[in-house]
Order: sequence, then structure tokens, then C-alpha cells
Amino acid sequence: MSYHSKVSPTDITAILKTVLHKETDSVSLHEPCFAGREWDYVKDCLDSGYVSSVGAYVGKFEQKLAEFTGAKYAAAVVNGTSALQICLKLAGVQAGDEVLIPALTFVATANAVCYCGAVPHFADSEMESLGIDAEKLADYLKQTAELKNGVCTNRSTGRPIRALVVMHTFGHPARLDLLLQVCRQYGLVLVEDAAESLGSYYQNIHTGNFGKLSALSFNGNKIVTTGGGGAVLTNDEAMYREAKHLTTTAKLPHRWAFWHDEIGYNYRMPNLNAALGCAQLEQMEPFLRRKRALAEQYRKAFEAVPGIQFFTEPPYARSNYWLNALILSEENAPLRDAILEDTNDSGIQTRPAWVLMSRLPMFRNCPRMDLTVAQNLEKRIINIPSSARLGMPYDTPGGDDAT
Ligand SMILES: *Cc1c(COP(=O)(O)O)cnc(C)c1O
Repeated sequence: MSYHSKVSPTDITAILKTVLHKETDSVSLHEPCFAGREWDYVKDCLDSGYVSSVGAYVGKFEQKLAEFTGAKYAAAVVNGTSALQICLKLAGVQAGDEVLIPALTFVATANAVCYCGAVPHFADSEMESLGIDAEKLADYLKQTAELKNGVCTNRSTGRPIRALVVMHTFGHPARLDLLLQVCRQYGLVLVEDAAESLGSYYQNIHTGNFGKLSALSFNGNKIVTTGGGGAVLTNDEAMYREAKHLTTTAKLPHRWAFWHDEIGYNYRMPNLNAALGCAQLEQMEPFLRRKRALAEQYRKAFEAVPGIQFFTEPPYARSNYWLNALILSEENAPLRDAILEDTNDSGIQTRPAWVLMSRLPMFRNCPRMDLTVAQNLEKRIINIPSSARLGMPYDTPGGDDAT
């Protein structure tokens, strides 16, 4: 590339400002939107006295989640990390196992593996989806792993590789069909970290339906929030029952007796949070419409700018565009921090991608494949403001769909 494609940080800020023209002072990266029946449902909780681990909203929220995602069952829990931990446990992950996860992910993916006593094993990414590169992983496993009595085993550590966690980066679905193929070939259980992809579809099927179990998050910065919260999705009734049991202290239902039949967890979502979630889910349609409209505005604004690319959904997917991302060309990567400085100084909140898991001190000695693409992406990604509200048409008081 020639020097003509060198980007200018002040130009990037100016382009962002034109897209975010409604904003005068500061624009945050992602903020929630409470434009529905949130107050009504939360007040109803307070009035009824059911704010905690018993109450009708938890069941309602689980049912709405199942309906929306097309998964047969959803078990609501306290956060996305605990949802992942339960997914992994039900997938059969045991202490001393290894679990393949992307190096490019939020720390919760790796932490959840460790909470099971297992070891994260890092996989590389590909450019089309920002998710795990299935072909590269298959080549790597051919070298590194062997099937011993049907169990995928790491040749160099001798440990079983039990599961593969795919993560749908910023809401963009990973190559699920190819990744499923790798799982079949090596006897791995597929778990989806779908924390970022509520409202994202892989070939018209909602993400979270490909893994044996999948985790959602309803943290304050996700597309739908319950304050804090998460859910385990599954199409397997036995798994759903076990998820509910484990997250409710493994207590056997009884009118008065406290009988627990294994070490369970107090991970049940409180009714108060589920009430918020019910109101939020009712707004999925406008949330998605606005987020996709904002992404389209960004795409157009950066279309003709050399040296930087607005990341768009892979051709096989329909993404929720949870968190919008710019990707600098390799030659512009050294300008990343200058762009972060200039945008943040101008009141536009931006941030880099996560530091790769493989570089964090507690995971430094974990096994990994060649991570060239993830290392490269880590230096080039910039996340830009993505709140649903920003995607409302300009000059439309009350928005495109005043609710
Ligand atoms: C948000 C998120 C989670 C879960 O986070 P919680 O804050 O525990 O709800 C897990 N994985 C990824 C990739 C996430 O973005």
C-alpha cells in the first residue's frame, strides 16, 4: 500500500462526528435503553414482594428467551460468566481437561473454563467473522491431538481436550458449520459463548442453537440488559433440568425439607432482574433495527476511506451489530492509539479489542496454537459507539418507532 492510505486520527474523529451528528458533548460506547415497560414490571415486583429467587418473571423471561431464540429451553442465571461455567460443567468438562477457546475474547470465556478446574487452550481467529478459524484449528488438531478411546487427547500434555467454545465476536456469528465439523471429527462438545450475539443469526438460525449448550449475557452493556444476568440455552430437556437444578443449590423440590443431592450453585436470576429483562426483550425488534441502521451509516461513512475498514457481517450471517468495529490496515496499526486518544479527547468513547487471553499473566502458560491472525487483529481493532438509540433517524423526535 502507498502512503496515500495512511489514515489521519482527526479525520476518523470527524467522520465519527458526522455519523453521530445528534450528539453534542459525549457519546459512550454502549448504553442501555429503557423505553418500554421496565418501570411497570419492576414496580410490580416490588408491590408483590417477590424480588428475589422466587417469582413469576423468571419463568416468563425464560419462556420469552426460548421463543425469541428458537431454543427449546432457557435457564436464567446471575450473569453470563456463570452461564458459561454451567454450560461447560454440563458439557462434561472436568478438572484437568483442556477446553479450546478463542484467544481473542473477553476474559469471562477463559475464566469460566478455569472455574471448572480445566485449562484454556487458545485458538486463532479468521478475518471474515473474527471468530475461531475452523480450518486452521482442524490442521492444528491433526498435528497436536489424537483420539484415545474416543477421547480427544493433547499429545504433548496428555490431557483430554473436552470441548470447543466458540464466541460470536461483537455479535458476528462464527463459522458454525465448519466448527461443528471439527467437533464431530474430534469428539469435542460444542459450547457457544453467545453473550454478544442475542439477535444474531447463522444462516437464519439464531446463534445459541448450534452448541449442545450456549451462554447468553444480560450485563449492562449488552444488547438487552437485566442489570446483570445471563442464561443457559439448550435444546436438550435433561440438560435444562440439570441447569436449573445446579443453579438452584441442587435442592430437591420439597415443601419444607432442605435436601441437596450434589454441590450446587446459588446462580439463579432474581425476579427483579427478570422483570427488567421481560420489558427489554419486548423491544428487541426496534433495538435490532436501530443497531443495524447505525451500522449501515458507519459502513457508508467509511466506505471510501482508505486504510480503515468498517467491519460488516459475514455473508452467511445476520448480525445484531452489538458492538461496531473499525479495522485498521496493517500499515495503519501503529496509529491505533493516536486514534483512541483523539476520539476519546473529542468525547467519542472508543476502545481497543481485548488483550489476547494468551498474553494475560494467569494464562501465559496455557497451551495455544499459532495465533498470528488474532495477534494481528488485536493491534488493529477499534470499537466505536454502538447504542441502539444512536441508530434512530435524525430529526425524528421520539424515534422511528416511539414506544
Ligand atoms: C459479556 C460477555 C460474557 C459474560 O459476561 P457477564 O458480565 O458475566 O455477564 C462472556 N463472554 C463474552 C464474550 C462477553 O462479551
